Amino acid sequence: LVSREHHAERTVVRVGGVPIGPGTVTLIAGPCAVETPEQTLGAAQMAQAAGATLLRGGAFKPRTSPYAFQGLGEAGLRILADVREETGMPIVTEVVDAGDVELVASYADMLQIGTRNAQNFALLQAAGESGKPVMLKRGMNGTIEEWLMAAEYVAQRGNLDIVLCERGIRTFEKATRNTLDISAVPVAQRLSHLPVIVDPSHSGGSRDLVLPLTRAAVAVGADGVIIDVHPHPETALCDGPQALVDGDLRELAKLMRDLPPIV
Ligand code: PEP
Repeated sequence: LVSREHHAERTVVRVGGVPIGPGTVTLIAGPCAVETPEQTLGAAQMAQAAGATLLRGGAFKPRTSPYAFQGLGEAGLRILADVREETGMPIVTEVVDAGDVELVASYADMLQIGTRNAQNFALLQAAGESGKPVMLKRGMNGTIEEWLMAAEYVAQRGNLDIVLCERGIRTFEKATRNTLDISAVPVAQRLSHLPVIVDPSHSGGSRDLVLPLTRAAVAVGADGVIIDVHPHPETALCDGPQALVDGDLRELAKLMRDLPPIV
């Protein structure tokens, strides 16, 4: 269902009216984790000023350590909904458990399935039945074929509003948190009609890599990027070192403005 053989034309997925697909480079930005109403609104306003049209923010956080901040749960979803009301930005937020899909879908404009759940088939099927677009991250140990098969689990439940997200894979390299597999973008676009975006924040894991990796994503034809932003990264409860701050966002805004026209 997600292959080009099934559907030759590239798909445009609309999230609360915002298009992701050929003809645009959609900027999705916001905090890694929703922490407080002030922090989420602050991050959203920074993101919007840089040209972001969709707001990201995790209320359910899949953390490596069970002792790390796990997210605010439904209280975080309520904060996101309030910030959407205030800014007009549709929201993208992660769901980590099939049992929470209905709850998260009642707030979100797009459901995010994270790298750690990339082959959680029950979750993928539940997301496919949610009636909401799904952003599917590539498993950090997953091949492109496994990623597309994961998308197939969502599609099989009648939902073709799927956006693929390359977020870096595990390699022997330790200088970056993950290795951004930039070639996955054109390969996935050749094999599948679905839009493909890049997460330069979680792949590099460091603020100084976000802009260079964003340039790389745009250069290979990614349909969008999803970027972490925080008004005070030094106090962030999750992934502060990779969050962009005001100065970086001015550069990001310039980069997005200066994009060559896409045909
Ligand atoms: C995220 O985007 O908040 C996240 C946890 O990403 P990933 O699943 O790629 O690690």
